[in-house]
Amino acid sequence: MNPEALYNISYGLYIITSKKENAFNGQVANSVMQISNEPASILVSINKKNLTNEFIKSSRRLAISVLGQDFPLSLIRRFGFNSGREIDKFEGVNYKLTDGGLPYIAESTLAYFEAAVVNEIDAWTHDLFLCKLTEAEVIKEGLPMTYAYYQQIKRGSTPQHSVSIEPNLKIKESKMDRYVCSVCGYVYDPEVGDPENQIPAGTSFKDLPDDWVCPVCGAGKDKFEKEN
Ligand code: FE
Repeated sequence: MNPEALYNISYGLYIITSKKENAFNGQVANSVMQISNEPASILVSINKKNLTNEFIKSSRRLAISVLGQDFPLSLIRRFGFNSGREIDKFEGVNYKLTDGGLPYIAESTLAYFEAAVVNEIDAWTHDLFLCKLTEAEVIKEGLPMTYAYYQQIKRGSTPQHSVSIEPNLKIKESKMDRYVCSVCGYVYDPEVGDPENQIPAGTSFKDLPDDWVCPVCGAGKDKFEKEN
């Protein structure tokens, strides 16, 4: 069996949120699929170890934010590389509430759903939540972030916010070395910099401030290695 075959399955990228009593939590997930139209239903897969799983089981409800391609890496880091057991993931985040009082991300989100769990399926490491939609709204037009596109941004092969540039114009001979995060695979490309964190294009890895961290997972500079 070649596990790389699985890389050919395509996914979107979402933030799944839920609540338990008065607390909110949420996480990044790629496995959301529509099941039926009548009733409008979806299936969501969540790791059993995650706090969001516990919250969904408690409230029996969840919300889904559909991320656009311009969704900031800092928010993916916040929701995907931290645990709600250690931080309040919503602190400082631009979010709004669904009619049912669940949070969804208001920034760079194309659409959101609110759903009620009607069935739960035990799937080894994960729980599958079969849900009926209770609310569905489009926030803005745009291209949804796919899991593949996210991986491209992380590896630096598609600088974010420059989707419309002709592919040939993007490829330039770089004199400065690229560095790879050994924790998450993010590639620091001096040609791009880290605009989200005020690092202009043209900044070499060595010139990054000592307290600069990986924009995706938060690892320090010492976790980076020169790309081969
Ligand atoms: Fe990283």
